[in-house]
Amino acid sequence: MPLQTHYTISSETGLSSVTSLIVGSTSAVIIDPPFLVPDAKSVVEFVKSKTSNPVVGVFVTHHHPDHYFSANPILEAFPTARFLAHPYVRAGIDREYAEKVIYWPNVFGKENVPANPAKPEVYNYSFFILPGDEASPVCLLGPVQGDSIDHTLFWLPTERTIITGDAVYARSTHAWVEEIETPQILDAWRLTLKLIESLNPQNIIPGHIEQGWTPNAKEDMAHMHKYLDLFESKITRPSQEGGKKPGVDDLFKTFKEAFPQCEKNLDFFLGKMSNAFGEGGEVWEENRMHDVKSRQKGVLEGFLLEAKAK
Ligand SMILES: [Zn+2]
Repeated sequence: MPLQTHYTISSETGLSSVTSLIVGSTSAVIIDPPFLVPDAKSVVEFVKSKTSNPVVGVFVTHHHPDHYFSANPILEAFPTARFLAHPYVRAGIDREYAEKVIYWPNVFGKENVPANPAKPEVYNYSFFILPGDEASPVCLLGPVQGDSIDHTLFWLPTERTIITGDAVYARSTHAWVEEIETPQILDAWRLTLKLIESLNPQNIIPGHIEQGWTPNAKEDMAHMHKYLDLFESKITRPSQEGGKKPGVDDLFKTFKEAFPQCEKNLDFFLGKMSNAFGEGGEVWEENRMHDVKSRQKGVLEGFLLEAKAK
């Protein structure tokens, strides 16, 4: 029997991030715990409503807090589960952990964020198989660029489903482009989109989608291309006369008007982006632990095997 996949959406305050569930014949796996404790409790109920199989693993696609911070309630509810991530994801978490555990409770309140968010253990394999489902491997593809450096994509080739983390945002939601600091980073994200498309998935489960929307592989990928194209023309490689930097308000307005269906969390997605790249804006220093600017093509796209320079 093929693996079954399900997803649930966090609250708007939790940035509408997506938690996925893979159910096999005897066990289950969760991908991307939510940001906030109340959403994590909802995930526990959601999982129990879908399967009584033991949860054997909880994986994380990338280091952003909205994809792992409230794993604690889930790990408590499913004590048989191992908490896992590829080594580069764990490294990203380690780089910013000390600052984020102070920063986020101040924003959301101590009751909404665990004081000591669990960190995933390092998982070194490039795939996993659930017992009894040997015909349905789950391949971990990474590191690849998404809205941050160092994402893992979870590809189910038998089921033709891919769980992308924040390599893909559904068309309901502004993409987080605040960390796309260089042309190399943007190009690497585009290459990830190409990789996803080359797999010809039937189902793409994105990293964020609003309530009331359903993932649609074709439309969500079109959204991502449109989003990155606009970002490139306004910010990465501005085509306007004189290459003058747009103002903070101009950027906010341009993106808001280009994607009128994206209505939620504008202050976060567009506010931080406009400040990062607009003239006179204030960069969100809290989000600068990864030295993104230093990442060159050879690292970002190290899987692209080109001839070595002599
Ligand atoms: Zn996210």
